[in-house]
Amino acid sequence: MNDYNEISRCNRCGFCQSVCPTYLATRDETQVARGRIFLTRMLLEGRYDFTKDEDVLEKVNDCLLCQACVVNCPATVRTDDIMLAARRDFMEARGLSLFQKLVYRGVLSHRERLDRTSFLMRLYEKSGARNILYGKTLRRALDRLVYFDSFLPSGLNKPARTRLNEKMPAVNQPKMKVVYFLGCASNVFTSETVWSAVAFLNKLDVEVLIPKVSCCGEPHHTGGDEGEARRLAKKNVPLIFGVEADFIVTDCSTCASALRHYDKILGDCAEAAIAKPKLSKVIDLATLVTEHLKPSSIDLKPLDIKTVTYHDPCHGIRGLGVKAAPREILKSIPGLELKEMEGADSCCGGAGSYCFTHPTMSGLISTGKVNNIAATKAEAVVTSCPACSLQLGAGLRRAGLDTQVAHPVALLAKSAGLKV
Ligand code: SF4
Ligand code: SF4
Repeated sequence: MNDYNEISRCNRCGFCQSVCPTYLATRDETQVARGRIFLTRMLLEGRYDFTKDEDVLEKVNDCLLCQACVVNCPATVRTDDIMLAARRDFMEARGLSLFQKLVYRGVLSHRERLDRTSFLMRLYEKSGARNILYGKTLRRALDRLVYFDSFLPSGLNKPARTRLNEKMPAVNQPKMKVVYFLGCASNVFTSETVWSAVAFLNKLDVEVLIPKVSCCGEPHHTGGDEGEARRLAKKNVPLIFGVEADFIVTDCSTCASALRHYDKILGDCAEAAIAKPKLSKVIDLATLVTEHLKPSSIDLKPLDIKTVTYHDPCHGIRGLGVKAAPREILKSIPGLELKEMEGADSCCGGAGSYCFTHPTMSGLISTGKVNNIAATKAEAVVTSCPACSLQLGAGLRRAGLDTQVAHPVALLAKSAGLKV
């Protein structure tokens, strides 16, 4: 109930209207923090029913949890926490959705099943079956299928873990030891980023431990399935917080933000006692590189692209407060110009699996983001979250643009001459 206490702090000023991506895309009062909070109040007052009201559930689930309203709210009302509490109560009243059962509990909760899914996706992509979807006759009828297909990157590699050992030694005498939290999306969809990052860290004399972790639990948590999120967190704690290391690093802003807040998920238990003193060691990859390593000691060469723009993932900028580090990295690459886009910190509409569960709203938000990227005329859009990478890549592909999508540290590794 604590999260619901926030409801009474909303003074209905409407400041959130100017920043809420779902409101800006729809101009619908039920799609903004103020409206969502009002609906939640009605739920608690019994005027709507957690077990029956589909419309309210839809508005609660439509929230991206991007926190744009929170940082722009004069009263700093935690709309994201209110929505999470409502999702949890909806879930308890109605059970898991089919998507949550199949994808979250069925696949994400089991690393081996995720690897098998990755194999099937590569088979689909490499067999040429996707080309059938783009045929003219079928195209209109299969719009939705094409939408889902657009998320699958071209030339999908094997999962990152297949080329990594649990210990990746530093090139010289190690000066630092880190645990690398290999998240689900990074492992399956952005293997090259992971390989580049690990090679780059090793080159900077960092020993990298890559334990066989489970999903960080964020998809389950944001879907209201707190029990499963807690079970996964408990499995991960000994693997990442129970070992001696200087930092726990990840290339995914969402994973970093989730791990940093494991105390909230774990509650009072033995695992919480292990994790809590080390939560501040969780760091995103770009910040580790700029603040704790010396990339300037490496000879950097110009890349084959000359212009980039940066998209701030919500969990990076508002979850972790990361803004300068990735930009600093991009500016350090010789001959590379950073062209800021309008609304760089506005949610891309990906929001984890939101792009799959809310294709219409997500597509609307994506179009605005893609237009802002295109306006910069940058050759690549850079971001520090694999889910944002998928969403940006899909939006660009659907718009017929060939703008590349990359992670800042992957570009840095490339500039350092590392080939993966
Ligand atoms: S800005 Fe904050 S206080 Fe104002 S209406 Fe939105 S949530 Fe409520
Ligand atoms: S968290 Fe994001 S999507 Fe949800 S109400 Fe706030 S600004 Fe809108």
